[in-house]
Amino acid sequence: MTVENLIIIGSGPAGFTAGIYAGRAELNPLLITGNEIGGQVAITYEVENYPGFPEGLSGPELVERFQKQAERFGARIEYDYVNAVDFTQHPFVVRTQSGKEYRAKSVIASTGATPRKLGIPGEDELIGRGVSYCGTCDGFFFRGKEVVVVGGGDSAIEEGLFLTRFATKVTVIHRRDELRASKILQNRAAENEKMAFIWDTVVTSINGDENGAVTSIMLENVQTGEVSEFATDGVFIFIGHDPNGWMFEGQLDMKDGYIVTNRRMHASVPGVFAAGEIQDNHFRQVASSVGQGTMAAMEAEKFLAELEDTDYEVVKAEALGLELAPA
Ligand code: NAP
Repeated sequence: MTVENLIIIGSGPAGFTAGIYAGRAELNPLLITGNEIGGQVAITYEVENYPGFPEGLSGPELVERFQKQAERFGARIEYDYVNAVDFTQHPFVVRTQSGKEYRAKSVIASTGATPRKLGIPGEDELIGRGVSYCGTCDGFFFRGKEVVVVGGGDSAIEEGLFLTRFATKVTVIHRRDELRASKILQNRAAENEKMAFIWDTVVTSINGDENGAVTSIMLENVQTGEVSEFATDGVFIFIGHDPNGWMFEGQLDMKDGYIVTNRRMHASVPGVFAAGEIQDNHFRQVASSVGQGTMAAMEAEKFLAELEDTDYEVVKAEALGLELAPA
């Protein structure tokens, strides 16, 4: 069985960037895409804040460019989904849905996170047509329009405040009568004239017109059961993210489903690195994921160079600050 130098798991901005760097370092990396190539950016209508593209470009086009660039430097792309890993032995074991088993000297986990959906009628059909999970990405398209934000956490309020730069009115719809968001954000929201709140209410469906654009939502008051229709141009949903890291549980140190890394992208097992949203639930930007993918690939390169001079147990012991027992 071939032992890969580096397997990159995931094909979002972090994974492809790691592929570009590792490819250029002649590591001949293997990148396993996951089910949705490109991750969250692939479902983003337009990316306008990624440096180097002053006119902006669509999410799918950016993904295509990332992939082309990674392949140009020799990254091999495998369309498969990693469903198990074993980091207790070295070379590491990586298994996929299609039944393949790989061995690798190093691994970069960049499996990302998925914005949680409401799971209501109209939501999937109207994604990119008024339904969005990213204010920073899509807010600009709602200049002069009225939007709603669903959720009561930091993301909902922070993104809601951001959306007031464009929208004439931002109505936060929250299922309870108090916000989960930090006090400072709550105060800012209360002071903002463009923000309004509907409490104790859930969205039960999203309606669109014949052009496929959002026109209204159906609401239900969870206290009174009262049902109403609310006109809106956009529905921004911020009810949390689910990290795509279940396959690493029990193998790496994790916190709330996210991989714990140090500042140089090292996970708890030497030779395993993580980049992008699977280890960062705070910044969640293409640009920050790209930076983390760069760091992970550079660290993997350094790790592999060290491995050339000695064996894994020595590198591991050094990385963990352990003393090896004499042979
Ligand atoms: P979060 O804190 O988990 O908040 C999710 C919100 O969505 C909660 O208000 C929750 O309601 C609501 N919700 C969940 N499921 C729902 C459903 N099915 N229907 C309706 N509402 C639903 O998630 P987040 O806001 O994305 O934040 C994630 C983490 O990142 C947090 O630790 C947060 O502090 C951090 N963060 C920090 C900042 C910052 O510091 N500036 C910015 C963004 C995020 P309940 O309140 O009733 O549970």
